[in-house]
Amino acid sequence: MGKVKGFKEFKRIDEEYLPVRKRLKSYKEFTLKPKESELNSQAARCMDCGVPFCHSGCPLGNLIPDFNDLVYNNKWKEALDVLHSTNNFPEFTGRLCPAPCESACVLGIIDPPVSIELIEKHIVERGFKEKWIVPKPPLERTGKKVAIIGSGPAGLAAAQQLNSSGHTITVFERDNKIGGLLRYGIPDFKLGKNIIDRRVNILTEEGIKFKCNIEIGKELKIQDLEDEFDAILLATGSTIKRNLEIPGNKLSGVIQAMDFLTHNNQYVDGQLKKHSEKFNAKGKKVIVIGGGDTGSDCIGTSNRHGAKDVINFELAGKPADERTSENPWPYWPFTLKTSSSHEEGVEREWSVLTKRFIGDKEDNIIGLETVKVEFDKEKKKFIEIENTTKRWDCDLVILALGFTGPEKELPSKLDIELNERGNISANSEYQTKKNNIFTAGDCRRGQSLIVWAISEGREASYHVDKYLMGSSNLPRKNSLGDL
Ligand SMILES: Cc1cc2nc3c(=O)[nH]c(=O)nc-3n(C[C@H](O)[C@H](O)[C@H](O)COP(=O)(O)OP(=O)(O)OC[C@H]3O[C@@H](n4cnc5c(N)ncnc54)[C@H](O)[C@@H]3O)c2cc1C
Ligand code: SF4
Repeated sequence: MGKVKGFKEFKRIDEEYLPVRKRLKSYKEFTLKPKESELNSQAARCMDCGVPFCHSGCPLGNLIPDFNDLVYNNKWKEALDVLHSTNNFPEFTGRLCPAPCESACVLGIIDPPVSIELIEKHIVERGFKEKWIVPKPPLERTGKKVAIIGSGPAGLAAAQQLNSSGHTITVFERDNKIGGLLRYGIPDFKLGKNIIDRRVNILTEEGIKFKCNIEIGKELKIQDLEDEFDAILLATGSTIKRNLEIPGNKLSGVIQAMDFLTHNNQYVDGQLKKHSEKFNAKGKKVIVIGGGDTGSDCIGTSNRHGAKDVINFELAGKPADERTSENPWPYWPFTLKTSSSHEEGVEREWSVLTKRFIGDKEDNIIGLETVKVEFDKEKKKFIEIENTTKRWDCDLVILALGFTGPEKELPSKLDIELNERGNISANSEYQTKKNNIFTAGDCRRGQSLIVWAISEGREASYHVDKYLMGSSNLPRKNSLGDL
């Protein structure tokens, strides 16, 4: 353990941001790097608990007290090795994870938890800066070929793991660039796309082949795929957008969040010369329906476009500022979250149900109507409150309502099943009903988080390796494989 009672000496610090006025002028990341000494003292706050609850909070089982201790002792390279032993891409989770490890941190009972995510981000950034992160191709190849369909974090993590075992890996991606939702969902101000490119370059140099603009089932036939590869991993994500089935939802100016965000990411990348009017929030009164991460990203993007104002509706009630007695540590805290995008300007409305969209004679959106709702615990559903109808004026409505599951076409062509939730069905070994076809990430789990996608990619790769070779030495969460 680093510093005994460090937690008494040092207060938690969080990442600082550029002022709102400055950061709204750009789509770039806006976090400010803390001093190295501050990171050392943040790591010193770790108590090296006998039972580190942070481990169990992390879907990857990151060895948190170990890397905290190494950072406190200025052993950054060793800290990087420890971090990479459980997490292929700490640069993604260090920026974007909601950090369930911090919610589970024991220090959180009496004080703000250890800034685990901040430390993780700066370990990996230090690693790239010092050029400690270099390609590590396998020493020999097994002769087995694996196709990975989908290049989001699940597909990429599985590709790196299986490649390290010596299998020959091809990642197929229907988009024109690698990354899945990291590339075309999450905005640049949260994750600069150079961060993805930097890692994909390492993976390419390790020997992984990437084939973009190929939709499996269309550009490449299933039979050809099954003939060429010994195993297939489906990591196609959860991509069917949830709609709002209410009157007026076809009006011009009612758009899907993913269409809005993808358009913006393509624009920032220089793939589009200017914004299409349909996806431009400039000068408009914007209403974002949906209060999750995606909704928050739409708010930040709308403000960067120069929206006149932005309102955000959430169906659920406003969460408490602090944990309640019904929601004690170490459970995930259902408390009010204020993201950097919220800070940049938005009016947040809770317990709001949208009833209908209102259009003008040309079928352009000009407003919408809502009612207030409350959650009935016995009936387990939201009940409308009488006499609360309200009209709101708007020029653009962005639906950020999440995804209902993976597309059905590919599983059907592969003759594999979906489960009752509409996700790709697999046994506990991530294997579908066809022995050579495995699945991982949001298409198996349902819409989730980057950290879960990486975790699923790692777990699935262990089972693919075992299927191909009879046993596997690939690491699994809290285990060392079949040693
Ligand atoms: C706007 C937004 C913001 C988010 N923000 C966060 C956040 O801050 N933190 C967080 O932890 N999580 C966040 N998430 C969730 C996170 O991005 C996902 O959980 C994660 O990306 C899932 O990874 P995946 O690899 O399973 O799938 P995806 O990232 O969805 O990748 C699947 C890939 O498969 C490709 N594909 C599909 N079908 C085919 C086919 N037939 N042939 C070839 N390719 C195909 C798709 O094009 C896609 O590139 C966010 C999600 C969204 C939408
Ligand atoms: S739970 Fe918190 S204090 Fe305890 S080992 Fe993990 S990070 Fe350190």
